[in-house]
Amino acid sequence: MATIQSVLGPVDTGDLGFTLMHEHVLSSSAGVKYTYPELVNRPWLTESVIADLREAAAEGLRTFVDVTPFDLGRDVQLLRDASRGSGVHIIAATGSHRNVPRAFLDGATPDQIADLYVREIQEGIEGTGIRAGIIKVANDQEGVDAGGAFMLRAAARAHKRTGAPISTHSYAPGRVGNDQVAIFQEEGVDLRRVYIGHSNDTDDMDYLLGLCRKGCYLGMDRFPGGSALGWERRTQVVKQLIDAGFAAQMMLSHDRRLCGPNTRQGRLERRGNNPDGVNFITRKVLPRLREMGASEASIRMMMVEAPRRYFEGG
Ligand SMILES: [Zn+2]
Repeated sequence: MATIQSVLGPVDTGDLGFTLMHEHVLSSSAGVKYTYPELVNRPWLTESVIADLREAAAEGLRTFVDVTPFDLGRDVQLLRDASRGSGVHIIAATGSHRNVPRAFLDGATPDQIADLYVREIQEGIEGTGIRAGIIKVANDQEGVDAGGAFMLRAAARAHKRTGAPISTHSYAPGRVGNDQVAIFQEEGVDLRRVYIGHSNDTDDMDYLLGLCRKGCYLGMDRFPGGSALGWERRTQVVKQLIDAGFAAQMMLSHDRRLCGPNTRQGRLERRGNNPDGVNFITRKVLPRLREMGASEASIRMMMVEAPRRYFEGG
């Protein structure tokens, strides 16, 4: 057992329970809440997010990992209020999203960027005292170019200084997880502390099995997914990896945003697109896995035990 930081303070890893590892309470733009606060209907958003989280908690959700770094419009006070109002543990992220922030390109070194992340993990975010519990880093179709490698090294160094685990956004059809792992290996990161996100955007079993064998975790974190790869196929891939012996290295999530800054419209669109929201896995994917013959132990492994081990570093 270990202790990690939630937005309400320390939580024992044994208390994390059923965990969604890659979600977003709000995604927006950096600084909007300060620069254009009239764009953000804060009271309504808070109420809406609490309602969504309570609905999920009633169906078993205990922990919601919000992998929204500052450049996606992270709002840690909203996360704190949402956690208080819903009773769901929320873990906040430091790190960065896809494009290297312009401010980081002005001669900074990876160690200087790591210093910023370390402060958010050890002291808190934006003067709130709310601490990050996970480090986000993102590479997409461009692969790991020079800027991407710079950001991966900053994330790796912040991880090594704090013990907070790393969660990536990757482009699975381009096998970008392999390139991320290569940089982490160069930096001496224990791959049991690395989660390669959006790995279920492909059904390339050679790639997925290769990542499992390297020892990292796979984020099977896009459900229901798009038309190119629907949720039935994504569920089959999870079952194949369970059958190959890798339930302990997968975690399932949706990559949903509960709201955008522009209040109701964003939420209604989400509901129309996926009426189950962040209950989709509980209501659709897990029952389908059981029909396919997955054991309760393998489901518990992916939804409870793997997240706990990843945060503990065991
Ligand atoms: Zn995401």
